[in-house]
This record gives sequence, structure tokens and C-alpha cells, in this order.
Amino acid sequence: MAKKTVVPCPACSKEVIWKENPTRPFCSERCRTIDLGDWASEKFKVPGEKINPDNLAEEEKQSSGEEKPSQKKK
Ligand SMILES: [Zn+2]
Repeated sequence: MAKKTVVPCPACSKEVIWKENPTRPFCSERCRTIDLGDWASEKFKVPGEKINPDNLAEEEKQSSGEEKPSQKKK
């Protein structure tokens, strides 16, 4: 049971000890940040249409205009 679980870092392929590794499955905080950045940019460029803040605001006005005050806390 003393076997160490080692996984390749998804960002740089370096071997990472899984156990008690706060940045797993990455070898370091830096690789984690890099990968998250990649993932985020992938995610946001996937759909053909961009999220348009103007459209969102417009929809919000239409759908919530009667029911709720437009002030929302987030
Ligand atoms: Zn790495």
C-alpha cells in the first residue's frame, strides 16, 4: 500500500505525486494556471456566437421587468 500514485502533469507531462498534492493533477500552481487559462479560452471560443452583454441586458429587461426590480445582487 506504500505505492505512490504518480500522474503526468496535464500541462507539462512531468510526473506528479498525486497524494497530498494541492495542485494535482498538475505539478505546480503555475501549470494549473496555464491549463485553466487554456481551458477557459477554449470554452469561450467554442460557440459560434459570442456572449453579448448588450443582448443579455436586453433579455433581462424583458423577462424580469414585470416581476422583479432590475436590481440584482450577485
Ligand atoms: Zn506541470
